[in-house]
Amino acid sequence: MIKLILLILCGFIFYSMISGLLRPGKSKRSQNQQNDGEVMVEDPQCGTYIPLSEAIKANIHGRQHYFCSKKCLKEYKKVHEK
Ligand SMILES: [Zn+2]
Repeated sequence: MIKLILLILCGFIFYSMISGLLRPGKSKRSQNQQNDGEVMVEDPQCGTYIPLSEAIKANIHGRQHYFCSKKCLKEYKKVHEK
């Protein structure tokens, strides 16, 4: 009888593990994955890495550059755009 209870218990643990793995994330997990999946770009002016969605985009000499702030963009342009 105890064996049967153990078997059911094991089955339940196994089931909850599987369903936890298969559940498509609507929890905090998916948010973390989104953050991890965020593309990071380098600010050529100060060398800081910023998420692409927060970066200030600028086209200088036909090349796309990304900056952490307008200040960096200004500084970079001052030196490179002449
Ligand atoms: Zn910067």
